[in-house]
Amino acid sequence: MNKVSGTRRSGAQQAPNDHRAYQAPTQAMLNSLGEGLIVTNEYGAITTVNAYALKALGFTEQELLGKWLPKTIIAVDEFGRPLQQLDLPIVKALSSGQSVSAHTHYLTKIGEVIPIYVTASPILTEGTPTGVIEVFRDLTTEQQLDVAKEEFVSLASHQLRTPATAVKSILSMLSSGDFGPLSPAQKKYIDKAMASNDRQLQVIESLLNAALVDAGKMELDLDYIDLTSLVQEAASDQSSFRQARSQSLQIRVPSHEVRLLGDATKLRMVLDNLISNASKYSPAGSNITLILKRDSDRANITVVDEGVGIPAEQIPRLFTKFARLENELSHNAGGAGLGLFLTKSIIELHRGELSVESTPGEGSTFIVSLPTKWSLG
Ligand code: ADP
Repeated sequence: MNKVSGTRRSGAQQAPNDHRAYQAPTQAMLNSLGEGLIVTNEYGAITTVNAYALKALGFTEQELLGKWLPKTIIAVDEFGRPLQQLDLPIVKALSSGQSVSAHTHYLTKIGEVIPIYVTASPILTEGTPTGVIEVFRDLTTEQQLDVAKEEFVSLASHQLRTPATAVKSILSMLSSGDFGPLSPAQKKYIDKAMASNDRQLQVIESLLNAALVDAGKMELDLDYIDLTSLVQEAASDQSSFRQARSQSLQIRVPSHEVRLLGDATKLRMVLDNLISNASKYSPAGSNITLILKRDSDRANITVVDEGVGIPAEQIPRLFTKFARLENELSHNAGGAGLGLFLTKSIIELHRGELSVESTPGEGSTFIVSLPTKWSLG
């Protein structure tokens, strides 16, 4: 016989106002919760704990009940260093009277650090906090999956890059006649193969870069660079792509250098991505404007297009990995949905910001704002 049906029967035999009749099913319900639950009184002493919490933390109920939560279930950073008391979700919830959610870590009884997502909410009785209810989820499995996914992406793209690079060099030798003259048809198809191979290599590069960002290993090769010439170079290098779509590019840059500490190769990736998006998601014959301005201690690069635009509610999704929005041009525009994720990551490594303004059907404006001087720290 299972416990719940047993308790129901005893509940039916008891007077309806006997609260003990309801206690067992309540604990059974708490134990069935797929999240950890800990309840404290207003002093932070643990009054209730469910099965998930006991299993995740490795304690028995006796070891927790009546104990002061902050000193018993220790919240730590990822390296196992205890958090300051004022940073504890339970303390914040009690002092603010508000629900507080945080990604943090708990130390288990045997000293393991487990990543958790916790929400601590004050229990208010007539407006006064009389305790805290904490609900948490153990993120260990999710984190392990994330690491496995990142390792897979990194390994697969390394393995793919070598053969794709070999194909590139063979195709370019063929195309330039190193193995004998080509008929016009042969040349046409080899050039098509080269264009596909270039796109393949670009996706592989993007995957490798995304894996570096995820692992926190993307590094900047900093130098004192001139943005004016970088913007000019980016504009002229992409002209063939735009010509094929009969699009024009207006460029407005200061007549002087705009110098800042930056990684020229990575900032070029940022510019290439924003210009090629402006072109890909705009109709043939439209105009793109690229503006560089120095504004006290910021350098602002603005890319304006007259394209399909982006609905306001979709804008936050743009910068997430593999995000591709449906629009009338997206089927023909190739891409892996990594461009803006990498663009934003690179800008943030430069301590800058990326923002976007858009009106569907009229066009989009992407604004990169970079500090020209880095403050220490
Ligand atoms: P990709 O272009 O490879 O799909 P991105 O990360 O560069 O990936 O862009 C993500 C999505 O954002 C695109 O699929 C597209 O729907 C949208 N997007 C990006 N730039 C523009 C733009 N200038 N105008 C309209 N939509 C855009």
